[in-house]
Amino acid sequence: MIRGLMQDRPLTIPGLLTRAETSFGHKRIITGGTEETVATWAEITPRVRRLAHAMDALQVPAGACVGTFAWNSQRHVELYLAIPSSGRILHTVNHRLHGEQISFIVNDAADDILFVDRTLLPVVWPLVSSFTSVRHVIVMDDGGDVPLPDDPRILDYEDLLRGQPKTPIETVIEDEHAAASLCYTSGTTGNPKGVLYSHRSVVLHSLLLLGADVFALSESDVIAPIVPMFHVNAWGLPYAAMQCGADLVLPGPGTAPAELAGLLSRHRVTFSAAVSTVWRQLLSELDGHDLSGLRHLVCGGGAVDDALSLAYQTTIGLPLSNAWGMTETSPVVTTARLGTAHRGLSAEESRQVLGTPGPAVPLTEIRVMSDDGVEQPRDGASPGELQVSGTTIASAYFGTDRGAESFTADGWLRTGDVATIDRWGHLRIVDRTKDLVKSGGEWISSVELENAIMAHPEVHEAAVIGVADPRWGERPLACVVPAPGVTLTIEDLRQHLRGRVASWWIPEQIELLEEIPMTATGKWSKQSLRRRFADTASPAVAEDDVKERA
Ligand code: ADP
Repeated sequence: MIRGLMQDRPLTIPGLLTRAETSFGHKRIITGGTEETVATWAEITPRVRRLAHAMDALQVPAGACVGTFAWNSQRHVELYLAIPSSGRILHTVNHRLHGEQISFIVNDAADDILFVDRTLLPVVWPLVSSFTSVRHVIVMDDGGDVPLPDDPRILDYEDLLRGQPKTPIETVIEDEHAAASLCYTSGTTGNPKGVLYSHRSVVLHSLLLLGADVFALSESDVIAPIVPMFHVNAWGLPYAAMQCGADLVLPGPGTAPAELAGLLSRHRVTFSAAVSTVWRQLLSELDGHDLSGLRHLVCGGGAVDDALSLAYQTTIGLPLSNAWGMTETSPVVTTARLGTAHRGLSAEESRQVLGTPGPAVPLTEIRVMSDDGVEQPRDGASPGELQVSGTTIASAYFGTDRGAESFTADGWLRTGDVATIDRWGHLRIVDRTKDLVKSGGEWISSVELENAIMAHPEVHEAAVIGVADPRWGERPLACVVPAPGVTLTIEDLRQHLRGRVASWWIPEQIELLEEIPMTATGKWSKQSLRRRFADTASPAVAEDDVKERA
């Protein structure tokens, strides 16, 4: 082999810090909340260095995990940089999890110290006696009047920084494969599992997001990640902003829909990303806000509801764009896109294409496998288990002997999603394996049924689960939240579904609820719905429905 003669430079997070400081020192990080703050990268970088020195002074060992419980904020960005750049591992924790899960995660990662926003102290402090490894809790004052416990383990973030020099970080990350950050899956099945990203995977993933056919992020963008910084590194957006020099707009603790709408319009945000429940709540707050700066809204982490996307298109002239990913995949693997194959489509058809996950981003591969391990044809009509592979995809879980069944013999990640791929490589998610409803030996896609129900103008949201049925094995049960102030009837809904879905898909049981319970990452919690309706026996299926199925 003749080796190429190119410079061997590791892909590391300190490189992102240098780039932000030297190329984009004037670009801004804005944090919302009761008092909005603005800082430039030139102002932030010395603080990052002080923070790294502060962790040295606290004797946080190299390779130790450092936990964060924080909103999307400037200080969280400082932690995103200082912790991995100084050879420690950034461990972002989802404060919306149950206390038991939080304790499990903090202990599993063996977090050495924790950085906690003051407004989140009431979540974290009562659990502190269950943490086996934590030596200090460093409080970041984000407003509010939460009292500080009188305890020697509590330290103040700004005090710590003040005591340190702004001289360069001494640690050098020589190996780009060194661990940089840790994020746990939500644990919908069993205990959460840790995914350990490397410097290399973080740098490559954020670089991929810049691609013209991915998110096309550039220096002229104003990026507002509404997706929390504890949810898979806010989908890589803070690091992507450092790569391209975009301004970053972060909501801080101000996550109420009205505050978010104000933030997006005041700062002329061009690009934002969140899960669909956030976009749904935001919709009613958009009136009176100038959102003409927006060019791309990512609705990720789940299916795009076409009725919601249409509402955005009508209200602000921009539909929602889907993206597919999971904690194990950094997360972005596919992004919705209109390609040459879609030229000539109507506005409605184009919106529907943008509402599906789209093709795989560079450096990643996707495939769909049948139950007996055969790769399915790329014809858009042959569903199977989605498997993914690439430099930004996990090869194993953090800790030993965990989740080995999620990886194939040839090293691909088994996602647990059922999907199809079409001849242009565009992915379509049929359902999560565990959410498919198996009725009379045939599958019903809960995602498709939900979208058909939500196309009813008087439906606010709908989630479909399978419930046991003596005759068919399982039948779909629809949980429907009516729009405010309407009198929606179940017969209306059944009527609306006729012709939109096969008649045997139409649920016999439709429950009108005030709200659908959510998971800690803001997705519908089908697990809670299944528990709630576990003992519901479905009434007999209408005779004509049975005939159609036969
Ligand atoms: P959790 O949803 O359990 O909190 P993740 O955030 O890792 O954990 O979510 C990954 C899962 O979310 C995927 O396996 C898939 O089921 C679902 N998902 C993500 N993106 C999409 C999408 N664009 N369409 C449909 N489902 C999606």
